[in-house]
Amino acid sequence: KILNPIARTKVTQDLSENVILTTVDDLHNWARLSSLWPMLYGTACCFIEFAAMLGSRFDFDRFGLVPRSSPRQADLIITAGTITMKMAPALVRLYEEMPEPKYVIAMGACTITGGMFSVDSPSAVRGVDKLIPVDVYIPGCPPRPEAIMDAIIKLRKKVANESIQERAALMEQTHRYYSTTH
Ligand code: SF4
Repeated sequence: KILNPIARTKVTQDLSENVILTTVDDLHNWARLSSLWPMLYGTACCFIEFAAMLGSRFDFDRFGLVPRSSPRQADLIITAGTITMKMAPALVRLYEEMPEPKYVIAMGACTITGGMFSVDSPSAVRGVDKLIPVDVYIPGCPPRPEAIMDAIIKLRKKVANESIQERAALMEQTHRYYSTTH
């Protein structure tokens, strides 16, 4: 049935007022960014600041973040603290056990570059991104809880703008990279 212009305007107005239009990507991203579950992971003093985030003062839960003790229930890992050579294989294994899509925040100078241990310590990894792909970096020694919150907001923006197809391609690429290097 062909509607006259006035009726068509009314239908368009009714639709825009009563129907929420979205894409599968937007719906999928909205659900994911509202329920990022970080793994409880810390290797040094940076974790003290991360632990402060979990208390009521900073109210981490308001972002939908629920800390998990198992990598199989987590889709975010915040590497809080120095990563030693001895710890490296365990970290890679934990990362591999997390289900896709998964994200990494590198927290603090030690985890990003080796920090003060990068000068002459043979035991510190000089950058966690040599082991696993990092989405957001938080500089500092240690970064304050506000900086962690800022990183979470940046990560949420990143998740909000992802497309399912691009993410699948990235996962495939990362998987190929890890199967050839680990
Ligand atoms: Fe500790 Fe500073 Fe290294 Fe964080 S960056 S683990 S606070 S020495």
